[in-house]
Amino acid sequence: MLEVDGFILTETLYGETSKIIHVLTKDYGVIGVMCKGVNSMKSVQRAVTLKYTYAHFVIYYKKDKLSILKSADVIDPLKKIRGDLLLISVLTYISELTYQVMKQSLGKDVYENFVETVLKLEAGLDPVVLVNILEIKYLKELGVLFNLDECVMCGNKTSIVAISSDKGGYICQNCYTNEVLASKKIIQMLRMYYYVNIKSITDLKIDKDTKKMIHLFLEDYYERYTGLYLNSKKFLKTMLDFD
Ligand SMILES: [Zn+2]
Repeated sequence: MLEVDGFILTETLYGETSKIIHVLTKDYGVIGVMCKGVNSMKSVQRAVTLKYTYAHFVIYYKKDKLSILKSADVIDPLKKIRGDLLLISVLTYISELTYQVMKQSLGKDVYENFVETVLKLEAGLDPVVLVNILEIKYLKELGVLFNLDECVMCGNKTSIVAISSDKGGYICQNCYTNEVLASKKIIQMLRMYYYVNIKSITDLKIDKDTKKMIHLFLEDYYERYTGLYLNSKKFLKTMLDFD
């Protein structure tokens, strides 16, 4: 028997009344859990085994096989997120992204970064900035993080003047041709996004232009280097408005 906190990333119906859920956990990665009979109307576990539930689980754990659910209790019902279409779209996207990241990474930090992001979304912090912070941290897990300290062309650590997803990172003054110019502030913010401890964030006041530029850079970078094409991201894109 194992007691573990986790977040349900996926649910798949199984038979008439059962389902299999994939739960992201800190110490055991993603666990597949068979939930017998939870889809029957009288099951008390029905609500706690829904996708995107953050809960405390008691399971019969079997390593590398399907575990079996004994019971679950919700830790945070995420009421604010569930009442807001944009926040639900964000939650759907980061859940899908996290599931993909976990397929490629040992992800010791993934659980903490993901859950803290969800809790900050619930607390009402800027969803676009939170998503971008998580995305830049996940680039490392995906093995394609750009160099946050130097020019991608020559290794120069000073006079960075631009960022280019095409070239894969920062561009210095000497190597500059026609890339998108980036202020010192944007370079600083990108570094902050990567290094910040999400749990410690209390407010996110970032000006619109910086936010937009970082968002567009990461969007393009993800398309070029991660090989991930998520429908939930396409949908989220239609919901975001920077103007
Ligand atoms: Zn250079």
